[in-house]
Amino acid sequence: MSEVVNVAELFGKNVFNETVMRERLPKSVFKKLKKTIEDGAELDPSIADVVAHAMKDWAIERGATHYTHWFQPLTGITAEKHDSFISSPTSDGKVIMEFSGKELVKGEPDASSFPSGGLRATFEARGYTAWDCTSPAFLREDAIGVTLCIPTAFCSYTGEALDKKTPLLRSMEAVDEQALRILRLFGNTTSKRVSPSVGPEQEYFIVDHEKYLQRKDLIYAGRTLFGAMPPKGQEMEDHYFGSIRERIAAYMKEVNEELWKLGVPAKTQHNEVAPAQHELAPIYEQVNVAVDHNHLVMEILKKVAGRHGLNCLLHEKPFAGVNGSGKHNNWSLTSDDGINLLNPGETPHENIQFLLVLSCILKAVDKHADLLRQSAADVGNDHRLGANEAPPAIISVFIGEQLEDVVDQLCSTGEATHSKAGGTLKTGVKTLPDLSKDATDRNRTSPFAFTGNKFEFRMVGSSDSISSPNVVLNTIAAEAFKEAADVLEKAEDFDTAVHDMIKEQLAAHRRVIFNGNGYSDTWVEEAERRGLPNIKAMVDAIPALTTEASINMFESFKVFTKAELESRVEIEYETYSKAINIEARTMIDMVGKQIIPAVVKYTTVLADSLGKVKSACPSADASVQEELLIEVSEYLSDMKVALSALLDVADKCAAIGENKEQAAAYHSEVVPAMAALRDPADKLEMIVDKELWPLPSYGDLIFEV
Ligand code: ADP
Ligand code: MG
Repeated sequence: MSEVVNVAELFGKNVFNETVMRERLPKSVFKKLKKTIEDGAELDPSIADVVAHAMKDWAIERGATHYTHWFQPLTGITAEKHDSFISSPTSDGKVIMEFSGKELVKGEPDASSFPSGGLRATFEARGYTAWDCTSPAFLREDAIGVTLCIPTAFCSYTGEALDKKTPLLRSMEAVDEQALRILRLFGNTTSKRVSPSVGPEQEYFIVDHEKYLQRKDLIYAGRTLFGAMPPKGQEMEDHYFGSIRERIAAYMKEVNEELWKLGVPAKTQHNEVAPAQHELAPIYEQVNVAVDHNHLVMEILKKVAGRHGLNCLLHEKPFAGVNGSGKHNNWSLTSDDGINLLNPGETPHENIQFLLVLSCILKAVDKHADLLRQSAADVGNDHRLGANEAPPAIISVFIGEQLEDVVDQLCSTGEATHSKAGGTLKTGVKTLPDLSKDATDRNRTSPFAFTGNKFEFRMVGSSDSISSPNVVLNTIAAEAFKEAADVLEKAEDFDTAVHDMIKEQLAAHRRVIFNGNGYSDTWVEEAERRGLPNIKAMVDAIPALTTEASINMFESFKVFTKAELESRVEIEYETYSKAINIEARTMIDMVGKQIIPAVVKYTTVLADSLGKVKSACPSADASVQEELLIEVSEYLSDMKVALSALLDVADKCAAIGENKEQAAAYHSEVVPAMAALRDPADKLEMIVDKELWPLPSYGDLIFEV
């Protein structure tokens, strides 16, 4: 048995949270800071020194030697540069520990090596990080020692966002302002703020670290680029929710403890569908904190794996032939006094505020489906979205039986008079309790599903930051709320106006509702008839960022400027090209240096055996060796041809100067050339002596953790 853990004691131990602030800050400073954190009031710069001092003392008492501004550049991961607290030595050769308000509030990392998409030339290298006090500072403990991490936003010298946090904070302000207008329309005068709440469910794979090190593809690309299916995959459905093996359990235990210390409310853990696949879900939090915490979850998953001789793969599709990994982004809107705008209550047909919010969100999702799709695009996710796997690349909304019935009533008769009730679930066994049943079943195939009091956006990739999807959700919701409030605030007869608006919006955007099987081919055809976009590849999704509708919306809510959007487009194309180029070069490397030499060795083994058998006993049957030799040699020569072809297109694409054109070429030429090279290699893996095959197999990786 492992030692007993006191979660309550552990939780938030390394966080400069409200309790610590209340204890350590003068009352007036604490009050001012809290006002900024909770009400979104402007930060009073005069309190920075006091807060910095308290933060430093607290950190040093816990063994911290360094601090860092922790930020989220457009690489999609986090970045940090550590500075120690020591000041320049005094005349007697001693140092004192210092941390000023200026150092807390502002950092100046050299920005020239982070992607800027042309927003900043290298000679204008200045970039600033700015303290985001709405996400608490925390202590990270690792081999380096203890480091005080300060969540920050990252901007260029001219104020353009170079990161994923700044637009998120801007989008939170946008949706706050517009959602409050909706609440006011219904007579609410007390709520002061509406914030998005997000709970991201994180999927991941765990493999043995020793085996990982034997696969260059996992090291360089984060996914396998070769690999034949083992005799067993996920078809028995025996891994999903299966009992957790000891080695993984020990790992999960430490992950939880590390996360709890950082104040991340890790809640649920289970085995996922594919062998070696797992999930971790935290309790939802305000979106800004949820995004930061999801980064910490990914970081801790990886770091703790190392301590257990394991490796955590966050890639969206580490293994062909079994499920990939995603991140379900559960999103809702909640006021500071606890009203969830997405809560329909028991009788949604009577809940006019909810129906207005629902119709606005349907409108927003329908109108900006391309943007939502784009927000979930990353290189790895191309293997999930639009491929043979969940969820489809078509954006549709599942609202469930109960709400669909209300929508039906409103659209057909203009009135909704009743709501289907959930009822009771009877198991037919006397000793089991009767369970109250939700009014609606679930739908696992929908990319955007209403699940009781929140929407679950299921497209997001497992390795991606959840910032972009939430920036889009917040902003498109803000736009729809604004358009509604603009009309309704002026209405003479509010009741009639709101009723008409709900009906009108539902009728106009009903096409985006789909409660059926999102994986079926008939849905693809049906969606096309409805005029819904089906954007299968990342390169085709990117242009959504700079359509007129997108620029107008983002500019009017001050979430992105046109220049910021354009820069993000450039970065997305560049990222795509670079990632595919790395994958192609890794394949070339592995085939040239590992797979071909192994296969050649096997052909000599076969040839030797053939010769020896024939000379020792001319009448013996050596046809197996001969057939194998012929078959292996054929695949070998196919592989050599495919290798040269891949080299050619990779070189050709690398030479293209324009980002969009280059990314398109990588997608249409290099990706198929990679598949053509993989094919003979995977066939050979099934034939060649396992002793000679240079890579751990899929079976070794996913069944023998
Ligand atoms: P599932 O049935 O999909 O497992 P859960 O109830 O376990 O759903 O929740 C999944 C995630 O959604 C969790 O992170 C949970 O905290 C989060 N969640 C629950 N309610 C809300 C809400 N109102 N807003 C945002 N996220 C929520
Ligand atoms: Mg879920």
